Amino acid sequence: MKLILNYFSSILSVFFSPILKGAIKKENSKQTNNTKFILYCKNISLTTNQLLFFTCSYIALILNIPFLIKMTSAITILPNYSVFFLISVPMFLLALTILIQGIISFKWITKPLLIITVLCSSLIFYGTITYGIVFDYGMVQNTIETDTAEALSYVNLHATLFFIVFGVIPSFLIYAVRLTFKPFFKELLSRLKLLGLSISAVLLIGIFFYSNYAAVGRNNKELIDYITPYKMIDASAKFVRNHYFYSPLEFKVLDTSPTIERTGERKHVTVMVLGETARAQSFSLNGYEKPTNQFTEKQGVVSFSNMSSCGTATAVSVPCMFSRLNKENYNKREATAQQNAVDLIHLAGADVLWISNNNGSCKGVCTRVKTQKIDTNKVNPLCDGEYCYDEALLKPLSAKLSKLTHENTLIVLHMIGSHGPTYFKRYPKDKRIFTPDCQRSDIQNCSEEQLVNTYDNTIAYTDFVLSKIISKLSQLADKENIETSLLYISDHGESLGESGVYLHGLPYAFAPKEQTHIPMIYWTDPMQADFDLGCLNSLAKSPITHDNVFDTLLSIMSVRTKVYDIEKDPFIQCKSQSAIARINIPTPLETEREY
Ligand SMILES: [Zn+2]
Repeated sequence: MKLILNYFSSILSVFFSPILKGAIKKENSKQTNNTKFILYCKNISLTTNQLLFFTCSYIALILNIPFLIKMTSAITILPNYSVFFLISVPMFLLALTILIQGIISFKWITKPLLIITVLCSSLIFYGTITYGIVFDYGMVQNTIETDTAEALSYVNLHATLFFIVFGVIPSFLIYAVRLTFKPFFKELLSRLKLLGLSISAVLLIGIFFYSNYAAVGRNNKELIDYITPYKMIDASAKFVRNHYFYSPLEFKVLDTSPTIERTGERKHVTVMVLGETARAQSFSLNGYEKPTNQFTEKQGVVSFSNMSSCGTATAVSVPCMFSRLNKENYNKREATAQQNAVDLIHLAGADVLWISNNNGSCKGVCTRVKTQKIDTNKVNPLCDGEYCYDEALLKPLSAKLSKLTHENTLIVLHMIGSHGPTYFKRYPKDKRIFTPDCQRSDIQNCSEEQLVNTYDNTIAYTDFVLSKIISKLSQLADKENIETSLLYISDHGESLGESGVYLHGLPYAFAPKEQTHIPMIYWTDPMQADFDLGCLNSLAKSPITHDNVFDTLLSIMSVRTKVYDIEKDPFIQCKSQSAIARINIPTPLETEREY
C-alpha cells in the first residue's frame, strides 16, 4: 500500500510541480507564479461533460484503487479467469461513476458536487489505504458520534499532506477550470449522449460478464464496501433515515417488577469496568508472552479467554451487550427503546452509578441512571484538557464506595482504555513498560515493534487500574464486611497492522479476530458464597459472547426477573442451588419437568 501511495504522490507532485516550484521562489515571484497558475487554469475551458469525464476517471481509477486491488485479487485467484473480465472492472466502475454523477450534475451545481465527491472520496481513500477501514453503516455512525478530541487525534502531517494531494489540489483544479455551456437543449442532448454511452457500457459489460460478476460478488460480499464514495453515501442516507425520519419507537418495559433476591446481612457492591478497544490476545492472562497482566494475575481473577464481541465498534457493542437483544437480532433503534440490564438492576432497587472516562458517551445505555463524567480539565494532573488517564476513575469510585446508601450497588466505570490511534496518550510516562513505543498518531509510520509496545502499554496500564479497583474492593470486603465483585469486559478489539489493517470498525462479517476476540475478567472477594470460583476457572475457556453479558450481570446482582435467561448465564453451572432458586423464575416447561 505504501508503495502505491508513494508512486501516486510522486506522479501528482510532478504533475503539480508548477505549484511546488512557485512555493520555493521569492515572495514576489511566488505570488506572480501562483497568479499565473490560476490564470492558466482559468484559460483551460472544458464542457461539463469533459469535466465530468476527467473527474469521474480520477474517482474511479485513482480514488478506488483499494477496491480495484481487492477485485483484482478476488478474480486472479480463480482458476481460468478471463483477462477481459479483469479489464472490464475499471471500465464498469468508470461507466457507473459517470452515470451516477451525470444524472445529478447539471449547470452550476456540477462543480460543487464534483468537489464534495472528490474531497469525501479522498478522506475515504486515506482511511482505507492507511488503516484498512471501510465506510459502511457502522463507520458512518462512529464518525458522526465521534467528538472533536477523538476526531483531532487522527489529524497529523501525513494525513494532512495526503488530503491536500488527493483531495484539495484536484478540487482546486475543478474549481479553477472554466466551464463552457451550450444552449440548454444542446447541453441536454450532449448529456443524454454521455449517459447513453455509459448505460450501454454498463449493459454490455453486464451482459457479457454477468455470471463472472455474480460469482465474484457472491463469494466476496465485502467488496462492495470498498466502492468509493457510494458505499458511504448509501450508509449515510440509511443513517439519516433511521435517525431523523423514523419516529421513535414506544419505550418497551420488559419487566415492571424485578427484585433483588440476596440472603444474609452483607451489603453488596459490583463494579463493572467497561473496557475500550482491548483485545484478548494481548492479555498475558490469556497466554500472551509479554507480562501485560502482572498486577491482576496475582489477585486471583478469572479470565474468560474465549469471548467474542457483538460489534467491532463502541457504538454497536456497548448498547448491544447491555441489551436483551442478541447479536443476530440487534438493532440500535429497538435496543435503546427498551429496558436494558442496567435499567432492570436499577428498577430492582440497586443504586446504580455510571462514571465515564470515555469521551464517546454511554451510547444510550445510562440514560435512566445516575451518571458522572470525569472532567478532562488540565487542573487534574491525570488529564490533558481532552482526555484523562483511567486512574482518574479511582477518585470518584472511592468517594462512592465510602458512602454506600443502598443494600446493593452497581458502579459502571467506562474506561478510555486502549483507544487509538493515540495509544501513547492512554498511559502516563512512568507506566511506559514496553519500549521503544510509538509516540505519534500516524501509527502506520511506526515500526511494528513500537506500535505493539505502545498498545501493550495501554493494556498493562488498564491492568494496573483494574488491580487498584480490586484492592479497594478487597479492603471494603475485609474492613466493612461488604460483599464485592468486579466484572471487566472490553467492547471490541483492535487491529495493529495485521494484514495491513489498523484500528477497528470493520464490518463484522469480515472483521479479523483481533477486532472481535475480547477479554472478560471476573473477580470476587473470597467470602461470597454464591459462586464457586474454582468451578468458574474450569469454565473460563468455554466460548461466550456479549450476548451473555445481560444475564451475567443480572446473575451477579441477584436480580430476579422474568427476562432473565438461565441458559445464557455462563456463571450458572458454578452457582449454588439456593442462589439459582432465588433468581430463576422457572418457565412452564421447566416447572412441568420438575413434577
Ligand atoms: Zn470502543
